Amino acid sequence: MTRVLETISSEFFNNSRQLLKLPPTLLFNSQNSHGHLINTAITIGNKLAYNNHFFINSPKLTARTKVSIRAYGQTMCEFHQHDVLIIGSGAAGLTAALHLAAHGKVAVLSKGGVNAASTFYAQGGIAAVLDKEDSMNAHIQDTLSAGAGLCHEKSVRFTVEHGPASIQWLIDEGVNFTGKTKADGSIDYHLTQEGGHSHRRIIHAADATGKAISSALVERVQKEENISIFENHVAIDLITLAKLGLPGNQCLGAYVLNTQTGSVETHLARFIILATGGSSKAYLYTSNPDIATGDGIAMAWRAGCRVANMEFNQFHPTCLYHPKAKSFLITEAIRGEGGHLCLPNGERFMARFDERLELAPRDIVARAIDYEMKRLGIDSVYLDISHKPADFITSHFPTVYERCLTLGIDITREPMPVVPAAHYTCGGIVVDLDGQTDIEGLYAIGETSFTGLHGANRMASNSLLECFVFAHSAAKKIKSALDTDFNWPEIPKWDESQVTNSDEDVVIAHNWNELRHFMWDYVGIVRTTKRLQRAKHRVDLLQQEILDFYSNYKISNDLIELRNLVLVSDIIIQSALQRKESRGLHYTLDYPNTLAVARNTILTPPNTPVFSARSRQRF
Ligand SMILES: Cc1cc2nc3c(=O)[nH]c(=O)nc-3n(C[C@H](O)[C@H](O)[C@H](O)COP(=O)(O)OP(=O)(O)OC[C@H]3O[C@@H](n4cnc5c(N)ncnc54)[C@H](O)[C@@H]3O)c2cc1C
Repeated sequence: MTRVLETISSEFFNNSRQLLKLPPTLLFNSQNSHGHLINTAITIGNKLAYNNHFFINSPKLTARTKVSIRAYGQTMCEFHQHDVLIIGSGAAGLTAALHLAAHGKVAVLSKGGVNAASTFYAQGGIAAVLDKEDSMNAHIQDTLSAGAGLCHEKSVRFTVEHGPASIQWLIDEGVNFTGKTKADGSIDYHLTQEGGHSHRRIIHAADATGKAISSALVERVQKEENISIFENHVAIDLITLAKLGLPGNQCLGAYVLNTQTGSVETHLARFIILATGGSSKAYLYTSNPDIATGDGIAMAWRAGCRVANMEFNQFHPTCLYHPKAKSFLITEAIRGEGGHLCLPNGERFMARFDERLELAPRDIVARAIDYEMKRLGIDSVYLDISHKPADFITSHFPTVYERCLTLGIDITREPMPVVPAAHYTCGGIVVDLDGQTDIEGLYAIGETSFTGLHGANRMASNSLLECFVFAHSAAKKIKSALDTDFNWPEIPKWDESQVTNSDEDVVIAHNWNELRHFMWDYVGIVRTTKRLQRAKHRVDLLQQEILDFYSNYKISNDLIELRNLVLVSDIIIQSALQRKESRGLHYTLDYPNTLAVARNTILTPPNTPVFSARSRQRF
């Protein structure tokens, strides 16, 4: 039942305490005497719900629950209260939302449209043990071997063992994977093989797996009454007890820019999940969409969370090299199905670098291409699958085929030009097997997190799997704690009283370009200490300049992203400088050897919650 309290005069709010008869769900619409919507705090029993014309779900409300209502603003600044706030609408965020929908009110934020995520662009597929010839141990061993001594075996085992159930869940949610329907109606799913995998274990939807996953999950999420999707909402920073100057180690929500209205909203929740994806936009060339600016990692760091292994950024060996092809990745499955890497004269070169040829792990293939390009001074190498039958190519790789054809390249007849590009962030926010960070109530899942699965190098198609497995485990943990009581402190609204509109947005565009250029040149596939120090010097200057800008001018999406990217770049550089060896994706000419003992690079922010047991956890 819903009741609307309309046009309550501002005098009513003056710390009045009333005993009200309220229905379990209350639609609250408060206005001041001028008819403007105003900020309102409602305390119901010992729970605080901030709201303004939004539903408050209060199952424990009785007819005589003590209710106090207090107004503290004259103009509208939206407060939203949820049980769970999920920042990110990719594979990780949507999966967590669907697992939680039956247990509470869930909000999902996305920077742009709900599909504005790396997930949508995933081509190859998801790794899981689905074939009788394959085994959990083989998948675990392959992952450990790709991770170059830095994977956490517990995390690898946990992920791999939950793989088949995650795939079944996706099938049940309506994802149409490629396969043949058998006489008994069951489906024989096609499994492909990718670099580093000893078996065929990649389940896929042709070469547009991410699109199939996104479409199915978005459709499901849109049908759930308990899930609200906030598109064009960019989280700026987390709200924590520590940031409010209060004792305790708890995340309470986030300040969020609504890019349609330009206003900053306050989203509060008992549990907050960061599912914000990676940070490959720190580099000039990337396969990632524009959203991949490391926002979750930066927000978590500023809130006091540890961040680990950020020097391990994976460069995908094969992005299409064409002036009109913005960030178009050529799936690894093309090499899995027999594609050859060649020089402009047609010569295959991978045999000189690794006996696994084109199926060597990505870092080896990317470095080999980088080496050949620098050696010969060429703009790209070539990937050739044209020796396979044309109908095999068009049925297995329809997306790549069509995209290349629109650019005048017929991959059934000729090779395609390719270059490496920043692709995947192996490091991230330190979490446990439930996705719990160093801060109570704050979880991180998917590419933004550091679970220990990938070690020094992610094995292809393990990343989507990680999203599903950890979204599920985080949701399970959150579900078990949703009913616990919590005393909400007063949360200040976003304060813009000291800032003005910028008349120099060129600074943002310039700094953005400068950052991505020097990250590519100095912190890229092959590193040296001197280059890293050069990058550190520049990033320090940029951080200062952006801090000034942030303190003095109104917030915008570009400014939020740049502020985060600069911070994350600094963390990448610091991590790379700390690693005095070459291992996995981190390759430095000054330390070409791999040390006998493998150690994670864990950076701790100055404001880390010292009393957190998790922050003392060692790896
Ligand atoms: C081209 C390409 C191909 C790939 N192919 C594969 C593959 O075949 N197999 C595989 O396993 N992996 C693949 N990957 C990697 C994999 O797709 C990603 O690791 C995975 O999709 C990440 O999912 P996620 O949910 O963590 O983040 P994403 O899918 O990136 O979603 C991040 C979400 O967070 C939102 N967001 C970010 N910052 C904010 C903010 N400040 N406020 C509000 N919202 C925010 C974004 O809008 C987005 O909705 C590929 C990646 C790319 C780019």
